[in-house]
Amino acid sequence: MYDALTTAYRLSCPRHGETSVRLSRFRRLDELPGTSHPAVFRIEFSCGCGEEHPGLVAHDELDWAPLGLEDETVFLNLMTSRADPVAHELGELAARRIGAGEWPWSFYCWPEDRPRPVFPSAFRMLSDGAPDGRVALAVRCPACERLSVNLVTREHLDVPFHNDREVGVVAHLLAGDAAATLHAFHAELYSSGFEARRLRLH
Ligand SMILES: [Zn+2]
Ligand SMILES: [Zn+2]
Repeated sequence: MYDALTTAYRLSCPRHGETSVRLSRFRRLDELPGTSHPAVFRIEFSCGCGEEHPGLVAHDELDWAPLGLEDETVFLNLMTSRADPVAHELGELAARRIGAGEWPWSFYCWPEDRPRPVFPSAFRMLSDGAPDGRVALAVRCPACERLSVNLVTREHLDVPFHNDREVGVVAHLLAGDAAATLHAFHAELYSSGFEARRLRLH
């Protein structure tokens, strides 16, 4: 389902059949209640045909497949920003990079005022249309569970280990339900400016 060569997911379009979708074209992600081993996410994505479609992506496909990992037998400790000793089970390259303090994805947590490592399963909503081509991303922080909105490049999302040096951050606390609907998310985006923050984890 995830194609490492094109760094894209194979998803289904009612008009064109199978289509190739990069993470930056996901629009919202919701964990389906009651699913586990693996958890399954219901997503919506912006398709090349011009419409948005729903799809289903398993947790391991979302977080591990882009790193060349088969499953979630590895445990990356997002609270301490360290790979725990089971890291030898990681793909060797991914393990080396994480060991050196690089993370496949990161974001700036506004309530905590610090950058944090993250995985795509913590993404909640994405929106393009910023004048500079960047994508607004709502993230549920894995550490404090609060919501932040960052403005990032597509590469920051689509290419694991490509982290923007600086991201835009919505500089106020978002209501817990701000990401409940795309409409509310857009209202938040356009009612507030973005402040620049450096995204260095080490
Ligand atoms: Zn389509
Ligand atoms: Zn946080």
